[in-house]
Parts: sequence; structure tokens; C-alpha cells
Amino acid sequence: MYDLIIVGAGPAGACAARSAAKSGLKTLLLEKEKMPRNKLCGGGVTPKVLTRFDFKLPQELIECEVRSARMHVGEDLHYFEADETLVYMTSRARFDEFLAEKAVDAGAELRDGSPVNRVEISSSHVEARTQAGNFRSKILIGADGMGGPTARTGGFYESWKPDQVAYAIETEVHVGEKAVQDFLGSSASFDLYFGVSPGGYGWVFPKDDHLTVGVGCRLDRLRDGMDLFSSFVKRVRELNGVEIPKPQAHLIPLGGAANVPSVRDRMLLAGDSAGFAEPMLGEGIYFSIWGGQLAAQVAAEASREDRYDEKTLAKYERQWKKAFGVDFDVAYDLACMSYLDQYDMDRFARYLFDEKKVQECIVGLMNGNLRYRDAKSRLVWPYFKYRLARLGFPFYS
Ligand SMILES: Cc1cc2nc3c(=O)[nH]c(=O)nc-3n(C[C@H](O)[C@H](O)[C@H](O)COP(=O)(O)OP(=O)(O)OC[C@H]3O[C@@H](n4cnc5c(N)ncnc54)[C@H](O)[C@@H]3O)c2cc1C
Repeated sequence: MYDLIIVGAGPAGACAARSAAKSGLKTLLLEKEKMPRNKLCGGGVTPKVLTRFDFKLPQELIECEVRSARMHVGEDLHYFEADETLVYMTSRARFDEFLAEKAVDAGAELRDGSPVNRVEISSSHVEARTQAGNFRSKILIGADGMGGPTARTGGFYESWKPDQVAYAIETEVHVGEKAVQDFLGSSASFDLYFGVSPGGYGWVFPKDDHLTVGVGCRLDRLRDGMDLFSSFVKRVRELNGVEIPKPQAHLIPLGGAANVPSVRDRMLLAGDSAGFAEPMLGEGIYFSIWGGQLAAQVAAEASREDRYDEKTLAKYERQWKKAFGVDFDVAYDLACMSYLDQYDMDRFARYLFDEKKVQECIVGLMNGNLRYRDAKSRLVWPYFKYRLARLGFPFYS
């Protein structure tokens, strides 16, 4: 019998496994796919992610570093340049494989190619059922992403509501290294497109020899995913005449709206399965890692006390809400104020990019020196000006 089983070796599961193994728990990490496995994702890793690691991220995993953003709103282009890295662009297959290796280095056992079909809880243990056999532990962390079986078969929830998730459709377009360098330009830029989706935005992320191109949309506003994607691609000048591989789609939880439980007797959820993606930009890697680490710490405490009931484990829910859940609520309000609910993106983009205070907030949110809850008070005056502008006062005109 294991002390802890973790289902899913994405960022949440791998980082939970490393943390738990380092605390001395006999830890099993079960992963559906053979590693390295592909994961549909922009692969944008913000600098604050690195602060969660007790090791260095190898330079060879960073395909591009971007310091500036080009915001397209209709025909307008708003440009913002920082004097530090805003995002490290990675390949999720290699990034996640590295994190899983770090879990194994710390003593966790990884069984990849082992899909879990079902999770069963009893009064004495929890059991993960796979085709290759059943595995038992005292406690289990579900980190198997959106739609993974742990949350469903473990009795957390049946499925997500359409207004709690974003639909994201994406592909990788191989344009070659030279074209990527041209795209980056001298200021190392990436692109975000607003007004291209009802309740979402589009992105073009530069990688070593390709561009990751995608567009998101709140699920309850979605009409036709392929249509949404093709119209977006037509808007991207760099992709004119370029062959576009068939895109794939996946869901992202909108953390601010997601009120799903993350704790039951002998079970915790982390990462996407618990809704740990921030609703403004859909950044999930950082919060999945942090949530996975918190879940592992609570599992280690439960093991020391030999108490696995929901009431004892509820401290996990309190901890992640305090750590970043509060920020999701602010980010959700911000998303509603801009592209989720209204269509005044042009003024909003100016509001975002022309204000020095807002630019400082963006850098702080990326490097972790600022949280959404702190950004709120700093944005009061720019926001007030934005509201006045909407009433016809001569701001941002
Ligand atoms: C198109 C798109 C673009 C995105 N871009 C970004 C971005 O640029 N930056 C960012 O921070 N976030 C981004 N996100 C969000 C980010 O990808 C997720 O929030 C993050 O991957 C969540 O990590 P996780 O460990 O919870 O889940 P995942 O990364 O989904 O990992 C779950 C793991 O569980 C495994 N699994 C599933 N079912 C089973 C099973 N039955 N048994 C065993 N294992 C199982 C899966 O194979 C997978 O390895 C994006 C998401 C999408 C869809």
C-alpha cells in the first residue's frame, strides 16, 4: 500500500509528487500517456513559475523569451514593452517530462502508460483502478486535468457548467526558425488578439521553429469551433499563405466562476481538475503547480496525524483559496469588465497599455511580485478614468 497516489503527471501531479516524496511519503504517480506526451497548451511559462521550483529550469527547455506584447484590437495595434522577461515559451511535452523526472529524482514512483479508469474510496483506503491492476493508498490526489476520471468517479462533480469553462482551439504552425525570428522582432514580442472571439481572445506564441496559434471562447458563447479558428487565422498577417495544420480543442477552467469542491474523505483535487486556472488570461501552469504542492503538504500532514477525513483535509481548500483563489475572483471580474461581458475592447486596450500603472501591474502579475488582489487598488484610478471615458469624458479618446 502506498501513502499517496497521484493521478496525472501534468504540472500539478508531477510537482505534488516531488513535494510528497520529499516529505517522506511513499508516492505513486500514475499517468495515462507514455512520457513525453503532448498537451494542448500555449506553453507560456511566466517568470513566477520558476519561484515555485527548488531547482533550476534548464535553459534548453526555454524556446523563446518574450519581453513585449502586441495587442491587436480591431485594426488597432497597442504595443507594450517591459524591461524584463514577460513569458518563457516552452514545449509542454518537454517541460512536463522534466517535471516528472524531478518527481522521480525525489523518490516518487512513476507509472506512465497507465490510465486510471476509476477511483474508489473505502473507510480504510482509496483505490485507483487501471487495466494493469489496482493500486491502493491512504490518500489520493486527482491531478488528471479537465475531464479526468478522478473528479467524476470520485464523486466531486459530474461535469462543468458551460459558463465555468473556456473552449480553446489551437495548432502549431511550422514556419521555420528565420520566420520565428522575424516574428519576434528586435523587442521579442508575442501577440494577443481581442475582438476575435465572443468572450475570449486569440494568441500567437513564438517557439523555436514554429508558432503556436490559438483562440479561446467561453463555452456558453461558442457556436462553431472550427469557424472561430479559421476566422481568427485569417486575421493573423504572418499566417497569410501558410499551411495551417488541423487544430485541436480542449477546455480550460475559468477559476473565478468554478465553485467545484476540491476535498473529500481521502481525496484532494489539484490543477485543472479543481479549476486552478486564472480567468483573465487562462494561465494554469503556475496555479496547478502551487496547488499540487499545497495538496502534497496537506497529504503529508494527514499521513503524520493518520487522519484523512474531509474535515481534516478541508484545510487544503482554505489554503489554496487564501494563496490564489481570492485572486481568481478579482481576475474574473476583470475579465468580465473587458472581454467576457462587454465589447469596448478598444478603449479597454488603451486603458491597459497606455497607463504606466497598468503596465507595472502586468509585469508584477507575470513575475509574481503582485497578485490580482493587490493590483485591484492600484487600478482604481485608471479604471475610474475608463468608466468616465465610456460616459463621454475625454480620456483615452
Ligand atoms: C489551448 C490551451 C492553451 C493554454 N495555454 C497556456 C499557457 O500558455 N500558459 C499557462 O500557464 N496555461 C495555459 N493553459 C492552461 C494549462 O494548460 C493548464 O491549466 C495546465 O496544463 C493544468 O495542469 P494540470 O497538471 O492540472 O493538468 P494537465 O496538464 O492537463 O495534466 C493532466 C495529466 O493527467 C493525465 N491523465 C488524464 N486522464 C488520466 C487518467 N485517466 N489516468 C491517468 N492520467 C490521466 C493526462 O494525460 C495529463 O498528463 C492552456 C490550456 C489550453 C487548453
